Amino acid sequence: MSVTLTPGKIAAARELARLFVPGRRVCLTTHVNPDGDGLGSEAGLLHLLRERGVDAIVTNPTPTPPRFAFLFDDLPGADRTAEAVKELRRADLIVVLDISDLSRLGMLTETVRGRGVPVACIDHHVSEGELPPGPRYMDPTAAATGELILELAEANDWPITESAARGLYVAILTDTGGFRFSNTRPQTLRVAADLLEAGVDPEEIYLEVYARAPEGRPRLFAEALQTLVVEPEYGLAWVTVPPGAIERLKVTSDDLDGVVEFPRSIEGVRLALLFREISQGRVKVSLRSVGDVDVAEFARPFGGGGHRKAAGLLMTGSLAEVQATVLEAARAWLGSRDGRPAASGTAVR
Ligand code: AMP
Ligand code: MN
Ligand code: MN
Repeated sequence: MSVTLTPGKIAAARELARLFVPGRRVCLTTHVNPDGDGLGSEAGLLHLLRERGVDAIVTNPTPTPPRFAFLFDDLPGADRTAEAVKELRRADLIVVLDISDLSRLGMLTETVRGRGVPVACIDHHVSEGELPPGPRYMDPTAAATGELILELAEANDWPITESAARGLYVAILTDTGGFRFSNTRPQTLRVAADLLEAGVDPEEIYLEVYARAPEGRPRLFAEALQTLVVEPEYGLAWVTVPPGAIERLKVTSDDLDGVVEFPRSIEGVRLALLFREISQGRVKVSLRSVGDVDVAEFARPFGGGGHRKAAGLLMTGSLAEVQATVLEAARAWLGSRDGRPAASGTAVR
């Protein structure tokens, strides 16, 4: 194995692993609308724990998107998301992956808050939120939580089996946009190399994650991309999901993964956004940036968060209202950052 860990990381990883005792019921969970990093980290850690005789299950706040269901094919009965509240009430240990804020657990927030059992956390987000006490293994420089699960295994001398490696590879592949984004560090590729050495077939994973789409996915992209607006004077571009399109095309919100890369791909764009009404009066905004624009910082005053170049926020209001508010703030913010006067309205910082 090729990764080197600091003494501090080794100590933190060993302290966390001490909680994994056979006989204890362990629930793994991640953020609402789980992504490849949350689900791949869960599948990888589940295999590692089961190999050590620890009974662990997955209890997420929202269902596993169809494109990631294959991660649990060789873990029968492990995805207990449909019974999450019941299972969490019986857990001896809760492990939160790929988030460090209770509020991102959606409908499970209060259940986890009130349990009184240790809540361990493994995460790479920049902003730490509120979580019940328990050991932490955090590194915002890691490209994916999956990278940190591999470190946890290394620090505890747990061998990486092919099954565990597949989940961790999905985690890193998806959070780095296929090893393209700026979070791809030398360490990321060393970890990926270890996973290939453990037996991962990169083409098989690519086909599962990116090439088994329902017909509705490209049709959803087509409809969303029709809405593209570009404001070159601000370096701003955005797309909007037409209301009702996800249901009509029989896809899930996971099928929007990658749409925001199109407005981001335009020459001169520094901030790209995707707007989607997730229910009546609630709008999700995905933010992506190019260069030194820090979207986690932009999202913070709106109660959102994430990473420097990929963040999200949730707002109440109609699609039109949220767009007006967020775009006005974006113009002011981008304008103020390079010395140009803000366009109008109040800057958010
Ligand atoms: P997304 O736009 O959903 O792909 O998310 C991009 C990044 O922002 C991910 O790291 C998410 O965990 C984070 N993120 C998305 N939505 C929120 C939110 N409402 N609050 C905090 N972080 C978020
Ligand atoms: Mn995530
Ligand atoms: Mn992640």
